[in-house]
Amino acid sequence: MFLYGDIEKRVRALRRGLEVNQISGELRGYSWERPPIEPINDVKISVSDINGICPTKRDVYVKYILKEKPKLNQYMLRGLAYHKVIRDTIASLKKAVYHGCDTGERIVEEFFFNTTIPEKICKRLGVDLECSDCFKLYRYIVLQVSAKVDEILSKYPDIDVENIVGLALPPFVERKIDGSLVGLSKFLSLDVYTPHSIVMDFKSGYERDEHLLSLTGYALALEADDEVDVNFGFLIYIRINKNVHFNVKGFVVSDELRREFLEMRDEIAELVDSGIDPGKPTECPKYCSYYGVCNEGDN
Ligand code: SF4
Repeated sequence: MFLYGDIEKRVRALRRGLEVNQISGELRGYSWERPPIEPINDVKISVSDINGICPTKRDVYVKYILKEKPKLNQYMLRGLAYHKVIRDTIASLKKAVYHGCDTGERIVEEFFFNTTIPEKICKRLGVDLECSDCFKLYRYIVLQVSAKVDEILSKYPDIDVENIVGLALPPFVERKIDGSLVGLSKFLSLDVYTPHSIVMDFKSGYERDEHLLSLTGYALALEADDEVDVNFGFLIYIRINKNVHFNVKGFVVSDELRREFLEMRDEIAELVDSGIDPGKPTECPKYCSYYGVCNEGDN
């Protein structure tokens, strides 16, 4: 699959780690009927709450109790645009392959110079086209997929369209998951879910430990929703400068991460249930999406 050429090698390495430190059954999402997976109350939070940047978690109070909407800054809009470019480009490529655009050459001919997809997305979100790098990301995906399709055709010359799509493109992009059994939203949307039972998330910002926790949340939600084991997570950090880079960070969804996620989930659920304002930190980052709400009247 084009997104992760050497995924088998990475999974192989991770599997060795899993043999040494197995995942406890009680910490699998499908053990949702009993603690510690069982939610502590009826509050359902979103996975992004786990990633919050507010040191006192006032962002959760502002969102759930004051019911304020976040103000997206340019960085957040850029991240959103990247996600949409990946999703819409993959969806269009799948459709095109099913409709006969089934060689690398044809894909390049039809898609490379037709930049309608990123144009529409940037316009809709109000992202500056020149700065957004969405074009580069779009063309990168088109070239990667066309190369992958040709590689598959050279390996299996008589292959049918169904298999080209299955082998060249991820089966689930923005996979919907009902996370309510583990105290998360009913309407989660996971970036990519693969046949290796791996959860994947794209990130456009800097690396943070909380990203491991939020992906752990998706893993638990999937385990509960599908009754499957999800052992591995891959965070894909998108960097775009002269070229497009996908920096992949693979990890085992270990007991330690599961416990940390559950602690954070319970803390947030308690905070929402109590309705108590946790107060502001000594300093608020200016890029916080609730800065205007919490610092109204400040200079
Ligand atoms: S503005 Fe400050 S207090 Fe409000 S959510 Fe952001 S960091 Fe927290």
